[in-house]
Amino acid sequence: MTKNFDSIETKLIHAGEPDPRIGGAVSMPVFQSAMFETAGEESYHNVKYIRLNNTPNHIALHAKLAALENAEDALVTSSGMSAITTTLLTFLSSGDHFLIQDTLYGGTHTFVNHDVVKWGISFDFVDGADPDSWQEKLKPETKLIYVETMSNPLLQIGDLEAVTAFAGEHGVLSVIDNTFASPVNFRPAEWGFDVSCHSCTKYLNGHSDIVAGAVIASARLIEEITHKLNHLGGTLDPHACFLLHRGIKTLALRMKQHNESAQKIAQFLESHERVEEVNYPGLASHPDHDRGLKLFDGFSGMLSFELKGGLEAAERFLNHLTLPILAPSLGGVETLITRPATTSHAGMSPAEREAIGITDSLIRLSVGIEDAGDLIDDFDWALAES
Ligand code: PLP
Repeated sequence: MTKNFDSIETKLIHAGEPDPRIGGAVSMPVFQSAMFETAGEESYHNVKYIRLNNTPNHIALHAKLAALENAEDALVTSSGMSAITTTLLTFLSSGDHFLIQDTLYGGTHTFVNHDVVKWGISFDFVDGADPDSWQEKLKPETKLIYVETMSNPLLQIGDLEAVTAFAGEHGVLSVIDNTFASPVNFRPAEWGFDVSCHSCTKYLNGHSDIVAGAVIASARLIEEITHKLNHLGGTLDPHACFLLHRGIKTLALRMKQHNESAQKIAQFLESHERVEEVNYPGLASHPDHDRGLKLFDGFSGMLSFELKGGLEAAERFLNHLTLPILAPSLGGVETLITRPATTSHAGMSPAEREAIGITDSLIRLSVGIEDAGDLIDDFDWALAES
């Protein structure tokens, strides 16, 4: 009998699980075998081999990830950057042009600005909230438009509905980095996006113990991206697949806590006299709040803020915190805090950062699943010392 389930909480546990269970195992076993006995496969891409992304660990994860975003298929990769770079290199060749949001994860920004251009591919940075500017930059050779669900680290929400309308109208591919929202808060395929990329290092795995990525799209597009990945080699090791599979099962519970705690902390910071500005789209004062309410089921656990007193105050504040860990990355169970100018966006020049509004004193917070009251007490004490 086919099992039917619509809710994401149930999909997280049951979608993609082997049926019948392998050896009766309730938890997906790790298939630590580089190659598998030939079973008459005729295509290179169907030969069972870890780099070809088709071991039982890969197959189960692909089905689960696709179900989470109500898409046809998915592919796991060795990192979020591998998901993004492989996607771009699948659909762009020498002579092509693409449009890309100007406020991006630093690694993606550096990749397009410094690497992609060397291969004869051109691009224009665009404001994700200004569709008129996309029209102005459109060229006959434009193949793709790329955005992030919420920009890193300023948490702006672009006009995502206009992105898919624009892509449809002009026959270009729409690609979104959905890492910050996770499939619990936003499912790109439901809004017409062609390709959704994730750094699974963050919310999807959630335990800060692996680096992994994923691409979620139609079966046709995933087949193309898989063939490119098979050649580029950015495959996810079966043991990392196992850890990702395990971590994903608690995604809904974790996101609920991230969403709720970040909202409470953003409200606390916004009302504090030592805080200059808070960027959190869950706040009614955020310019993109209404857009987020329409698109998202939650605002996630990421926020950024500026203290009164600039860089010195920010450094004093960070040094006095006791619970949050001063570390890059995000989306884990523990609260992480960082200054993007020294970590996620350090690869950009100061001028590039300034152009998109990232100051040296900006603090980015990834709210974990600790008690929100304990975190607020810690912030209160560190703010008094800042
Ligand atoms: N996309 C976003 C929004 C990120 O924040 C990151 C990493 O911080 C990445 C992609 C890259 O992910 P990974 O470090 O897994 O390669």
